[in-house]
Amino acid sequence: MKIVFATNNPNKIKEIQSMLPDSIEIISLESIGCHEEIPETADTIEENAIMKADYVTQKYGYDCFADDTGLEVDALNGEPGVYSARYAGEQRSAEDNMTKLLLNLKDKSNRKAQFKTVITLNLKGKQYLFTGIARGEITLEKSGNQGFGYDPIFRPENYQETFAQLPLETKNKISHRGIATQELIRFLKENK
Ligand code: IMP
Repeated sequence: MKIVFATNNPNKIKEIQSMLPDSIEIISLESIGCHEEIPETADTIEENAIMKADYVTQKYGYDCFADDTGLEVDALNGEPGVYSARYAGEQRSAEDNMTKLLLNLKDKSNRKAQFKTVITLNLKGKQYLFTGIARGEITLEKSGNQGFGYDPIFRPENYQETFAQLPLETKNKISHRGIATQELIRFLKENK
């Protein structure tokens, strides 16, 4: 079985391939000749993941999965959500995004938040959605230098450290993306 992973990150492809049996081959956008930027202009994380997977299946005819992730802050009505990557502007700077978020939360006592990843899988004419959520809170300041994005200001529930202070192995076990990916892998193994 061949499935396209709609991502431009070769590490993400390698990582998921290493968790799957050889009978499931994950192929890149590059290898199917998809070099253009795939639109992700929807208003929700779910719709963005669907938009990306459908683009590949409809235009290139492949089974495909795509993921989309956002950080949803309770006191900001779910912001930055689908706009997480460009919260502070099109330069997509993680530093600027964190600074803006800390500023917007300055006077708020409720700092609860969650990361949400949705993976959309188009397989044999059907569509499946897998969701992973990591609950936690936004810290008062940045700590740690591992990971990426909002990791230095997100402390997952039941931990004293931010995602940026935890070993990657630990983060992968409890993270939104890790949970959604495990769901996808379980499904693919059962339906190959
Ligand atoms: P994407 O959909 O995986 O590209 O994620 C969108 C944006 O959400 C990223 O640009 C980051 O700002 C943020 N983000 C996604 N996953 C994580 C994570 O695991 N840690 C911190 N920030 C993340």
